[in-house]
Order: sequence, then C-alpha cells, then structure tokens
Amino acid sequence: MKAIKHLFGIAGLSREQIEYLVNMGESFIEVNRRAIKKAPTLRGKTIINLFFENSTRTRTSFELAGKRLSADVINISASTSATTKGETLLDTGQTLAAMQPHVLVIRHSLAGTCEFLAEHLPNTALVNAGDGAHEHPTQILTDLLTLKQAWGSPEGKIITIVGDIAHSRVARSHLLAAQKLGYTMRVVAPKTLLPAQIERYGCKVYHDFDAALPGSDAVYMLRIQSERLTDSCAFPSIREYHEAYGLNAKRLRAAGPDCIVMHPGPMNRGMEIATDVADSVKSHILNQVEHGVAVRMAVLTALCGGMQEEKSTDSGLPLSDDKAQGSLI
Ligand code: ASP
Repeated sequence: MKAIKHLFGIAGLSREQIEYLVNMGESFIEVNRRAIKKAPTLRGKTIINLFFENSTRTRTSFELAGKRLSADVINISASTSATTKGETLLDTGQTLAAMQPHVLVIRHSLAGTCEFLAEHLPNTALVNAGDGAHEHPTQILTDLLTLKQAWGSPEGKIITIVGDIAHSRVARSHLLAAQKLGYTMRVVAPKTLLPAQIERYGCKVYHDFDAALPGSDAVYMLRIQSERLTDSCAFPSIREYHEAYGLNAKRLRAAGPDCIVMHPGPMNRGMEIATDVADSVKSHILNQVEHGVAVRMAVLTALCGGMQEEKSTDSGLPLSDDKAQGSLI
C-alpha cells in the first residue's frame, strides 16, 4: 500500500488506504476510553489546526487526537489569525509552515484549499478538515469506523442520505466512498437541494423520503448548509421541510427494525431530525463523535509516518453547481 503524504479527500484514497485508516482508528478507540488517555506515538511532532470556518466536533477531535498521542498541538481560528489584517491564505500557510510543523489541519470555505497550499508547502503534511462543499474525508472515515463497529463492513448495505445534498461535503465524500467500498447510497432531497447529474455518482435519487425508507440499513440526516445557500427559496418553511424531509419516529419504523440513524452534526432538532429519534437507541450520532477522535488519531499517525495519495480520477467538482461558493481547483 502506498503511504499517504496528505489527506485531501476520499477521492485520492484507495479502498486499501481507507480500510487501513479505519482499522487503525478502531485500535485507538481503547486509548480514548482509558483512565489515562495518553500514548507516546506522536511525541516530538507538532500539529497546527487552522480553522477558517466554525467547528465543534472536527476541531476538538483533531486537538484531542494530537494531544492524546503526545504531539504539541496549536489551534488557530480565522478570527484570531492575521487574515483579519489582510494576510492572504498563502502567506498564512507559508508563515505557519516556516515554523516547521509536521501537520497542518485546515478547514476553509474554498474547495481545494489543501491542494492549493500543498503546491507551496513541500515539507508539511496537509489534512483537509472540510473545504467548502467539496470534501470532508475525516468525517467519512469516522462514519466508516462507526459502521464497522455496527455491522462489521458497509459492503452491500444501503445508506439513505437526506437533506441539503447540493451543499454538503459530507454527502459528496460519502458518494465517493460508497463507490470504493461497495455500499449503496440513496439520495433524498427536494429538487432545489440536489445538484444536477448527481446520478453520475452511482446513487439512486428520491424526492419522496417515504419511498426511500424501506430497505435502508442506515438513514443519514444532513443539516441545511445555510452558510452556503444563495437561494432563500430552497424550501418553503422549516415546518414544511420537517414534514417532508425530517426524520421522525414513524419514518424510522418504516425503514425497518435494524435501521440505524446517523448525522455528522451539528443537528438542528425539529428540522431535519426529531428529538426522540436523535436520542433513541437507534441513534449512532454520539458514537460518530467518539469515533471521530480515534480516526483523527489514525490520520495524524499515518501522516507523521509519511505517506502518497493515489492519482484521483474524480473531477473534483463540488456537488453543487453553485459557482458562488468559490473553488481553488
Ligand atoms: N460538520 C459537517 C461539516 O462540517 C456537517 C455540517 O456542518 O452540517 O460539513
């Protein structure tokens, strides 16, 4: 298996590399559950988390992952960085790279931020912690670890993903992973939240949530990405959206007794998901959060060991056709 130098997206990973990271993540679950949550794996390594978009789960789990593996971890958010003084993304990246970190973890609203910076920062491993509507690879590795714990393997399973598909990097990365790992994605959204030519990802498209439920092994709910919506008429009202596309107990029953519930967070209770469903025994949402730390420990460990992504055949286009979101690739 080829080593991975950067983690830009699921598009650049082979099935073997994905499974390697998920398996390593699984071995770290136990470290996170110990009374003393410390292992020496990344002693002497420096990790900088540079977040230009808000985050609770991803940022905290990268920080915990680095610290629990004994790395030195620095967190920078856009509001406290020199970009507020007019510094360019490239200057910020080069400045931080000059301080010789081993890994730079970046979240940015522009698709392709990590690929762009990688051309200019030859000695730093870069991790995409979410770039606009493009990719969110560590969320998908987290979900795959959750599915591994629930099912053993996602192969042959049906995951029904519901909501703002057009602006979701999570949806896009899952569609890429499904093709590599052999699970089926059913995609459910109103036409206004669905990109053109979504079928090119090999998924089945539904506008009627109830029609997609029977036979689903997991229902994966998405938040409306209001920060990326340019069309204020994408749906009539929160109440109507919840009625048509919200997951409630009745719908979950219709999916079958073994169907599990997932959500990458943050949830908007009462909109895409009802509270009783979010808190039910079928909900794996907090398992996803727990596994997020373990998977990010695996990613940091792999990158500090020095690795190469495969040449991607993916177009790199965000699911949404909305050019206003901006892209660097
Ligand atoms: N946390 C996920 C992301 O960063 C999903 C979301 O924000 O709704 O893409």
